Amino acid sequence: MRKNIVAGNWKMNNGLSQTQALISDIKKQTQISDAEVMIAPSFTNLWHAFEALRQDNIEVVAQNMHFAENGAYTGEVSAGMLQSIGVKTVILGHSERRAYYNETDESLAKKVDAALANHMRIIFCFGEELADRKAGNEESVVESQIKNALFHLGADAFKNIVLAYEPVWAIGTGETASPDQAQDMHAFIRKTLANKYGKEVADNVSILYGGSVKPNNAKEIFGKPDVDGGLIGGASLKAEDFYAIVNAF
Ligand code: PEP
Repeated sequence: MRKNIVAGNWKMNNGLSQTQALISDIKKQTQISDAEVMIAPSFTNLWHAFEALRQDNIEVVAQNMHFAENGAYTGEVSAGMLQSIGVKTVILGHSERRAYYNETDESLAKKVDAALANHMRIIFCFGEELADRKAGNEESVVESQIKNALFHLGADAFKNIVLAYEPVWAIGTGETASPDQAQDMHAFIRKTLANKYGKEVADNVSILYGGSVKPNNAKEIFGKPDVDGGLIGGASLKAEDFYAIVNAF
């Protein structure tokens, strides 16, 4: 049975004191939904967040990792390092990493393998650019992103993979895919998975939507049958807004 998940991607925001303040605000919120809640602070704040939320039902996840176990990769962090501080889930393939750090389907496939080899769960992001959608190519772009990075895996791997459809044109722009656009793409993603791995696998994978989800649109988007939650950027930086989204389920 797939889970509802709301994950906050803090990106490169919040030093230690802001992290402490935001976590303290988060702890004051009341959750009435059954969604799993995750936050992804920067690397420097992961340990603090992990310790601060140890007793709470909020998972602390990483925004990225390297594919190698260790070695001469200055500035990078490995799956083993994340595991060593208790972080068990990593976001991979965010469009900002694809755009600014040249992450490709091929390099992401290596990261996916490294994360799974280290028994980590993955939130795997993908999504088309505006030009792709204008040209009517959104499905083929999304299909190839998924196939190239994930379809070398066996069906069992999908127990540890959450998919996040994030149309690039909707990230941080205030422009949201309409609930119907999100549903259509999520249904297409599930069909693509079902064609390769069968219906049972496809039905059990959580597919999140990301792209300008806010308290005022979350309920309608999450109400769609193939949308199992959200990856939230800007609105995850305010505890009240984030929890309004969590409680939209
Ligand atoms: C994101 O970066 O994953 C994201 C969805 O950002 P925002 O909610 O700000 O559009």
